[in-house]
Amino acid sequence: MTCIDCRITSNVFGVEDPGEMTILRNAGALLTPDSLRSLLIAIYELHVRNIFVCGHTQCGGQMSQRRMDKTINKISKQAHSPPETVLKILGVKNVSQAFLGFEDVSQQVMKTVSLVKNHPLISPMGVHVSGFVYDTQSGEFVKIL
Ligand SMILES: [Zn+2]
Repeated sequence: MTCIDCRITSNVFGVEDPGEMTILRNAGALLTPDSLRSLLIAIYELHVRNIFVCGHTQCGGQMSQRRMDKTINKISKQAHSPPETVLKILGVKNVSQAFLGFEDVSQQVMKTVSLVKNHPLISPMGVHVSGFVYDTQSGEFVKIL
């Protein structure tokens, strides 16, 4: 599970053949309803037994409340819809729910690892879950959990 950032490829994980790795992506590498759906299919149908949660430095998902407010206003302006309408279209009540912004990548990766590891539909499967942060400047790949 990783972010949408194109700098994170299977090579970052030391996997030369992209066919050896299923990559689930969403902004910030978060456990969301859709990433959970994909994880369950990967585990139960594709027999995935090792999950790497990989965040990275300089992530666009690192969003303060102020940045999330700016982003909703940017979307609102470009889509010619008031922010309230944008939130309604997204099916959420506020910008935090819309963007799920976080500030600390390591903490977010640890949170995601914990959520995945302890999920009642995943934990019985004996799946190994670990967390990493990819430093986009140095190219260093650090295991944090
Ligand atoms: Zn990112």
